[in-house]
Amino acid sequence: VAATVTALSLSACGRAEESTESEAAGFGEGTKIGVSLPQKTSENWVLAEGLFNDSLTEAGYEPQVQFANGGASEQQNQISAMITNGVEVLVIGAVDGSQLGTQLQEAKDAGITVIAYDRLLTNTENVDYYAAYDNYTVGTLQGQALLEGMAAQGEGPYNVELFAGSPDDANAPVFFEGAMSVLQPEIDNGNLVVVSGQTEFGNASTQGWKAENAQTRMDALLSANYATAELDGVLSPNDTLARAILTSVESAGKPLPIVTGQDSEVESVKLIMDGKQYSTINKDTRALVARSIDMVKSLGAGEEPETNNNESNNGVKDVPAYLLEPVIVTKENAVESYANDPTLSALVK
Ligand code: BGC
Repeated sequence: VAATVTALSLSACGRAEESTESEAAGFGEGTKIGVSLPQKTSENWVLAEGLFNDSLTEAGYEPQVQFANGGASEQQNQISAMITNGVEVLVIGAVDGSQLGTQLQEAKDAGITVIAYDRLLTNTENVDYYAAYDNYTVGTLQGQALLEGMAAQGEGPYNVELFAGSPDDANAPVFFEGAMSVLQPEIDNGNLVVVSGQTEFGNASTQGWKAENAQTRMDALLSANYATAELDGVLSPNDTLARAILTSVESAGKPLPIVTGQDSEVESVKLIMDGKQYSTINKDTRALVARSIDMVKSLGAGEEPETNNNESNNGVKDVPAYLLEPVIVTKENAVESYANDPTLSALVK
């Protein structure tokens, strides 16, 4: 454990000052590392499970990797159990990053280091590091891809609809804000028309990142707004929802619009190669898990983990973060983008 010694001292002018001295002790072979993942709402989480188990074991630690399939309260219980079980580090991909305050305080009191994985843990002092892809950039890339895909098909103005992720996931509003930073000016100048008028995150969001919720909303949007109007594009925050949106349009018997995505899921990469889904984002899970394991190893060695960003504000503090760069993928660049991924490169040959 990295023991932190906090001392209250009186300075010359009589003010109480806090001085913090970090005495990094590290930890060794066989140390228990807890990894708490959310529901399996996309393939990346399932890949992460296997990668965390293998790489932590290979690094000599004892991994405890669990999914919170039942949601936020199940995750609270799992994390408490991991703390009782004696983990030295907690890596958390939160179902709802704002609902773990009590457990993170328990972790802090037990001297455990907390790493937020992919999704930030919000409104708490008790998160030490964050490892993720740059979520805002994911959103801007999606917004740009939507515009480029539609421009390749003809002149504007374009009729579009907007989808966002689950409101309990701290990433979802960030993806949406990034996309809207690109799309809002085009809405304002009349080049984009959101026919339903639903341009707020609150209307666009998809509870639980569930495909059926996106499909139901798309069905309703089509019947209410596109009896005669043509739908040119849909902003979709990820691949699972993109496929639900495409299914809805297909079953309504309408021509397929330009649809964005994220995660490079196998089924969506196939749809991209078939010309049905326009884009996805490559956020190689292997690189993100490797980055998180590097953080754990540094802590084990009693060193400060490497970070490259200090602007990930969680509402209470700037969490030192390592943010990786996401890559936009369309049919055009799929071969290069997946060159070193054995599963995906086989699909795009
Ligand atoms: C992740 C996305 C994923 C979504 C649903 C987000 O927090 O960043 O990659 O598509 O959760 O699982």
